[in-house]
Amino acid sequence: MTHIFIYDGLHVIYSLMSTVSFNDVRKEYDSSIVAVDGFSMDIEDGEFVSIVGPSGSGKSTLLRMLAGLEDVSDGEISIKDRIVNDVPPQDRGIAMVFQNYALYPHMTVRKNMSYGLKLTSDLSDDQIDRRVEEAAEMMGIEELLDTRPGNLSGGQQQRVATGRAIVRDPEAFLMDEPLSNLDAKLKIHMRTELQRIQEELNTTTIYVTHDQEEAMTMSDRIVVLADGKLQQAGTPDEVYHRPANRFVADFIGSPSMNFFDVELRDGVLVGAEFSYALSETFVDTLDAANGDKLVLGVRPEHIALDGGGGDDSVRATVDVVEPVGSDNYVYLHIGENECILRTPSGVRPDAGSTVDVSFDESNLHLFDAETDESVYERRTEYLPTSD
Ligand code: ADP
Repeated sequence: MTHIFIYDGLHVIYSLMSTVSFNDVRKEYDSSIVAVDGFSMDIEDGEFVSIVGPSGSGKSTLLRMLAGLEDVSDGEISIKDRIVNDVPPQDRGIAMVFQNYALYPHMTVRKNMSYGLKLTSDLSDDQIDRRVEEAAEMMGIEELLDTRPGNLSGGQQQRVATGRAIVRDPEAFLMDEPLSNLDAKLKIHMRTELQRIQEELNTTTIYVTHDQEEAMTMSDRIVVLADGKLQQAGTPDEVYHRPANRFVADFIGSPSMNFFDVELRDGVLVGAEFSYALSETFVDTLDAANGDKLVLGVRPEHIALDGGGGDDSVRATVDVVEPVGSDNYVYLHIGENECILRTPSGVRPDAGSTVDVSFDESNLHLFDAETDESVYERRTEYLPTSD
């Protein structure tokens, strides 16, 4: 990470230097489709940031504007404190890795990796050769330098595409779903590879994926987009444990969070089929008033099957149990509400049976039913220590 020290006569002001800044960026296609809407964010030097969101939420558009492949309709994008809105892609100091790898089929791997650098830099052929060989070694593709892409497997092509980005020694790597064409096992292997490379080079990386699990395992920070708007930017722990709104709560985590409509009545969450008494401390930190309509969110891993019929337990009917190896997913009904629970593989209630479930206050999420915004800032003692 680069640090800047500014001396103002009295104090040394210390700040982190950001590589990439978006300032109120907007993109309209055909003056009617708003693909990105008022997006602002600073990305620090050396950060690995993933952009996630459903299909059509504006992820690729954001990345393509940063790369210079799309014009910005409004706002500013800066790379290393230079506004790049009008700077051509090749002069932005970035390298992009695409989903389809975009390798030139008639060129060898060596040529594919060196071509861009030959066009855009003053480096000598020897210097370029050395860089290509270093990058090839890093990606474990030295043996393939004289091969053409058509003779390579998907995984090998992926390595070449990444190697080509490394050769350029950019300010930032921009990656658009780079692993989505690989099979599941190779994908997991390449995740680790990309993380290793990124840590070794410490190059700012902006990574677009629709796969929230990929983002959770790889990133320093995750940006969640919906309808072109920023929903939350935070560490994987933050977006998982402290989702800013119902959309983030629903999108992050698999299987998804369960939601129940409730009303706050004198410190009790009253749902259609159950009521749940909150502690005084919980109610004190709640940004909601008596009578407010709220949405209670509980993750499948935070519901226990040991309700035991006590005050806090909720009666439910088991629909289906789905074994997924290490865990079981138990599909239940609480009244009309469908709900999913995650249990260890040994815990397997019978379909059709009635069970008592309970949830723990420390793992609850609450959202305003109208705005979908979180009304409860989970207290730090409930969060993992790495947070
Ligand atoms: P994502 O990468 O999250 O799937 P995109 O950035 O590709 O989303 O798209 C965001 C929105 O912009 C979508 O509604 C999409 O249909 C629209 N869009 C993307 N590219 C174009 C284009 N070239 N022309 C018109 N609309 C586009």
